[in-house]
Amino acid sequence: MRALILGVGDAFTRLHYGSSALIEAPEGHILLDCPDPIHRVIHEAASRHGWEVDVSVIDDIVLTHLHGDHCNGLESVGFTGWVDRKTGARQNPPRLHTTAPVIDRLWQRLAPAMDTLIGVERPVRIDDYFDVRLLEPETEATIAGLRVRCRFTTHHVPTIGLLISDGQRTLGWSGDTLFEAAHIEWLSAADLIVHETNHPPAHTTIEELNALPDALRRKIRLIHMGDDFDPASTDMRPLTDGELLEL
Ligand SMILES: [Zn+2]
Repeated sequence: MRALILGVGDAFTRLHYGSSALIEAPEGHILLDCPDPIHRVIHEAASRHGWEVDVSVIDDIVLTHLHGDHCNGLESVGFTGWVDRKTGARQNPPRLHTTAPVIDRLWQRLAPAMDTLIGVERPVRIDDYFDVRLLEPETEATIAGLRVRCRFTTHHVPTIGLLISDGQRTLGWSGDTLFEAAHIEWLSAADLIVHETNHPPAHTTIEELNALPDALRRKIRLIHMGDDFDPASTDMRPLTDGELLEL
């Protein structure tokens, strides 16, 4: 399994793209969160590693939560899928995998820009753009041939962390979260953990991660740092925009 880190920044970054990844799976690619400007974000990271991937060929999106730095690209991805189906470039809308509380409010967020289209007489709905699939913490999902589990984090709005496995290796993804020992314990099943760090009250401080046992810290790569993050404050390595992780 390989994970292309698309961006490592937070909601306020002037230097990076939003924290997100493109995961190479047995049956395609999984876009893990969808910040703006998503087409450019994918193009820059993919072309750097010779991946021929753009939004039109991505069939699976996993959304951790509805903060804009994780979901603002969905409008454009939805329109791309709509146009691709009109031109015959795509058969079905992309699958959007997320949790019940996100599904409940997803269309509230997208509808003002997407619920009418010139030439379409009926109301346009979420399922005109996305095949929305429910992710549940109790149930392992199979997405693009990978096994995906989720766990709710502690954040301002309903948010999940993820364990993504190909049966051999497992990638842990903290999602946005304040420090929670039970969440790190859950993530520790992974071979490599991408963990967020940022300022309180909704995020995990670097001091909290620095206090973890050595064996766990060695598995952690950092993401979602503020622009003012000091790499010298820790022995865990920050990820970089466009970095390719091989598990
Ligand atoms: Zn957030």
